[in-house]
Amino acid sequence: MNTANVVAPSIFKPSRALSKVGPSAISRMMATTVDLQRQGRNIVGPHVGKPDFDTPENVIEAAIRAMRAGETHYTALDGSPAVKAAVQGKFARENGLDFTPDEIVVTTGAKMLLFSAFFATVQPGDEVILPAPYWVSYSDIVEMMGAKPIILPTRAEDGFRLQADDLERAITPNTRWLLINSPSNPTGAIYRKEDYGPILEVLERHPQVWFMVDDMYEHLIYKDEPFVTPAQLRPDLRNRILTVNGVSKAYAMTGRRIGYGGGPVPLMKAVRVVLSQSTSCTCSIAQAAAAEALNGPQDAVRRYRGEYRKRRELIMDELSTAPKLAYNSPDGTFYSFIDWRGYAGKKTPAGRILTDDEALCDYLLRDCGVAVIPGSSFGSPGYFRISFASAESVLREGMLRIRTGCTALS
Ligand code: PMP
Repeated sequence: MNTANVVAPSIFKPSRALSKVGPSAISRMMATTVDLQRQGRNIVGPHVGKPDFDTPENVIEAAIRAMRAGETHYTALDGSPAVKAAVQGKFARENGLDFTPDEIVVTTGAKMLLFSAFFATVQPGDEVILPAPYWVSYSDIVEMMGAKPIILPTRAEDGFRLQADDLERAITPNTRWLLINSPSNPTGAIYRKEDYGPILEVLERHPQVWFMVDDMYEHLIYKDEPFVTPAQLRPDLRNRILTVNGVSKAYAMTGRRIGYGGGPVPLMKAVRVVLSQSTSCTCSIAQAAAAEALNGPQDAVRRYRGEYRKRRELIMDELSTAPKLAYNSPDGTFYSFIDWRGYAGKKTPAGRILTDDEALCDYLLRDCGVAVIPGSSFGSPGYFRISFASAESVLREGMLRIRTGCTALS
């Protein structure tokens, strides 16, 4: 017997950082979907937040030019001067924020910035407030640092937006961060000026609490309302606000792995230490592509947004025929967060009782051939998430399977 590839389980011991955390629910769902597809099953997947569009042509050209010009070496660890200047320009132009280069970092996706900022600032015993539903990775990253995610449920009737008095009650001397994502993955909720105002007033009273703001979906807004970000609203609090953003979603560049952020110098210095001991820098060619995405023409962003808007309508129409699903038309992002509790306790044709969201999503995946993400991974088990970053044909088929699956429950 060839024993070379047999791993003895007793030898492998994960670190303490991994004791509470595994791969994200979304990567698990992606892996199961691929497994089932390999077995010949026909599965449609409106589950992943991965734009199906190609990167804009001018951005592809910029990457090719960078390769040909020999821009294939390490760059400064927080980004080349060119990409940092592009980020600086973007923040000034679109958000009215005048960051200096030492207040800016460019990272391997926004995820690496979120990770580095927590790595650089929290320790066991610290608390991080996460309004739920929240993007899956926030709580896991916080747990990996040994800190404690404090999950603050928001209410559908408040548009899934954190209310200032709930925040006030949750803050303790151990609170280090509040993290808000607007537009929100998974609900699509957008914080307006009047939503951020009272939250910033609470934070003003608690100087130990810093504010991480994830603006990743800034360009995917379907309402006629200006996008606002807290550092713009309260310049006096900017010395404890980290504004996170990236090119993944707006420019269909998820695989290029470029995120960026602006924040106070001491924090950014600490983030640079983490980067210098982990990624060194992000891909030089992707940096050149991101600089072009931010500096160049923005018509592709408008085109994508128009397509997402159409798909959002398609999904809303299709869902309206599954009577026990409750949902709102999302104001932003390409997600819809659907309340499935009308079907809780129902029986599948195979006789399985739907006791929780995992059971529902498992039924939809294995029995109905449609992959969606359980709400518990976003801190809200009464829901599941679909993504409309997939082609219209996938969405139509996915919605049909969800409807048929729901109708078959008794
Ligand atoms: N924030 C949110 C809310 C996201 O949904 C995602 C990606 N799904 C990220 C951050 C990470 O983006 P990136 O690809 O830049 O790492």
